[in-house]
Amino acid sequence: MELLKLRDLVFSAGNKVILDRFSLTVEACEIHALVGTNGSGKSTLAAMIMGCEGYAPASGDIIFDQRSLNDQKIHERARLGIAMAWQEPVRFEGLGVPEYLTLRDSSLDPAALLTAVGLEPSLYLHRQVDRSLSGGERRRIELASVLGLKPRLAILDEPDSGIDMLSTGDIIGVVKRFKDNGAAVLLITHQEEIARIADRASLMHRGRIICTGKPVPVTAWYREKKYLAWDGE
Ligand code: ADP
Ligand code: MG
Repeated sequence: MELLKLRDLVFSAGNKVILDRFSLTVEACEIHALVGTNGSGKSTLAAMIMGCEGYAPASGDIIFDQRSLNDQKIHERARLGIAMAWQEPVRFEGLGVPEYLTLRDSSLDPAALLTAVGLEPSLYLHRQVDRSLSGGERRRIELASVLGLKPRLAILDEPDSGIDMLSTGDIIGVVKRFKDNGAAVLLITHQEEIARIADRASLMHRGRIICTGKPVPVTAWYREKKYLAWDGE
């Protein structure tokens, strides 16, 4: 079943076309990796799907569970089950880690969520979601909060960024957790090792998808810069 269907999305900022008739489908319960060089439009697309202010498409459709999201605000999309972990993780000065993890659902167990993202609960339950956490720690805590939202679609924008290489396995474990919970994942990543756990992968270049398929050949195309052929190079 198609959970998310993006059709011919167009978005410009300044005088630059960022999404150029972008189309992509994410199936229910599918991990779909999205790879592409810096500036290809991945984070812009993520903000558009989530419904962030200023990211409405000039044309095209965002269809989630067979209904159009084009006119839905960010909180309405969240209520329908779309959640996102931002490329730049959030910071809330003065908010404790357990309070942050249980903001939406007080019945959640913050320790279990921390364990799921590879953090030792006793070291973090008394901390605050502020600048005293390292970027990698904040990123993991944000992933834990998105996990706790039990979304139907999780958009993870470079969940591996700021995470040390040895911890790639933790990130892979979290992504699989989403799938085990019945969620679909749009997984934006530059790391081949992470993209390979996806059911399908798509390569984005200059605001469009230029190929979709099994993760191994698609990430090989990315690594070998085959997308340059699209520039006539
Ligand atoms: P990615 O996440 O794939 O690295 P982004 O979606 O962040 O790419 O950005 C795509 C391109 O759009 C980049 O060249 C970026 O500089 C540009 N861009 C993003 N937002 C704006 C904006 N508000 N105004 C002008 N250019 C923007
Ligand atoms: Mg980005």
